[in-house]
Amino acid sequence: MTTHFVIIGNGAAGYRAAKALHRADADAQISVFSDERYPFYLRRQLGDYLSGALSLEEVIFQSRNAYRRERIDLFLMTRITGLDPAEHRVTFASGPPVHYDRLLLATGTRAVPPPIPGRDLPGVATFDTLTEASALRSSLRAVEQAVILREGIIGLSLAECLVARGVGVTHLMAGDRFWPEMLDETASRRVETLLEDQGVRLLRAAAPRRIIATAGRCGSVEIADGRTLPADLVACGCRREGAVDLAEAAGLDVGLGVRIDDTYRTSRPDIWAAGDAAEPTSGPLSGEAAVFCWQRAGSRANGPPRRCSAGPPSPPARPSGSGPASSDTTWRSSARATSPPAARSRPRADTNRPTSTAGSSTGPAGSSGQSSSARARPSPN
Ligand SMILES: Cc1cc2nc3c(=O)[nH]c(=O)nc-3n(C[C@H](O)[C@H](O)[C@H](O)COP(=O)(O)OP(=O)(O)OC[C@H]3O[C@@H](n4cnc5c(N)ncnc54)[C@H](O)[C@@H]3O)c2cc1C
Repeated sequence: MTTHFVIIGNGAAGYRAAKALHRADADAQISVFSDERYPFYLRRQLGDYLSGALSLEEVIFQSRNAYRRERIDLFLMTRITGLDPAEHRVTFASGPPVHYDRLLLATGTRAVPPPIPGRDLPGVATFDTLTEASALRSSLRAVEQAVILREGIIGLSLAECLVARGVGVTHLMAGDRFWPEMLDETASRRVETLLEDQGVRLLRAAAPRRIIATAGRCGSVEIADGRTLPADLVACGCRREGAVDLAEAAGLDVGLGVRIDDTYRTSRPDIWAAGDAAEPTSGPLSGEAAVFCWQRAGSRANGPPRRCSAGPPSPPARPSGSGPASSDTTWRSSARATSPPAARSRPRADTNRPTSTAGSSTGPAGSSGQSSSARARPSPN
């Protein structure tokens, strides 16, 4: 019987896991659910998209056709709202639940904007998704002055792009040097010089106190010393936290992320986690060090299928010393279906969506149609 692999999240971790699974077992039934409207793209290219160096088509890394060719069923704009480990089911805001044999949580992180008054005003933007980058890009013509809150890779990326688009940029720093949590003194100073050379104004020890509205949208930012800075755009390079609600509500062991062992297995049978949402409990990336290392998602995403697969490994190599998983603990080992395929809810694969309003969540049984039994595999093209 074919094993049904369900992957929640279509970022670096989910996408690469799906590809690796397909390589390991061309007959595997793979369903990837994403609440975003676009197929896989590299978030690190959002800056190039915002600056105008790349078009939307160039940023989108993988077309829907490519998923079809690899027999991966992709469901866009489909948010999974619940997880029932005992029944091996995931649930949606509407539509019947979907059964899984093996589940991968690749839900990433989410931005947490600074908790200051005015953060919900129009003109205050985060920069996490292609949808957000698109909205930002189309609003830029009207922007003359931007203030960037919080140091980090996203703030850096934003600063460079906005300056390239002719926007006056002020980047607030919490202390007296740039991003001390991540950079040593030399690196901080180097980044500061690079930014200032590009025309970014850096304000040190300048914690934002509130965002002030002008004509119903952000107009300025007040900082700790009482000064106000004009800002028709406030861009947040936000603090991030793991998107772990599903796992937490389902009773999985969760700390800063979904806790995993060195085979990426969570505390519940048949559920794995990878990428930024996962927190290793052993090894060099465990504990505090685990959380939100930028480079982690892609390389770790190859873990579950490889280490849990009887199939050939796929690059990059997984860390040595983590021996092969035994067959009964594998991600890809023979199916242990708890219900026959005909009885399972089986959403129709996304073929040429998005079909619903941008940003809304549609369950797999939405108006686009659904097969509740047969496997609706698109034919390769
Ligand atoms: C602007 C920007 C620049 C970056 N630059 C770099 C860089 O230069 N180098 C680098 O290494 N990293 C960079 N990163 C970080 C890198 O993109 C992340 O580490 C990586 O995307 C994490 O991959 P992931 O698959 O774990 O999670 P994500 O890419 O966050 O993907 C998780 C996906 O799951 C979806 N999801 C979550 N919950 C649900 C649910 N319940 N149902 C359905 N879908 C759900 C989310 O919407 C999201 O699409 C950057 C990130 C950003 C935003």
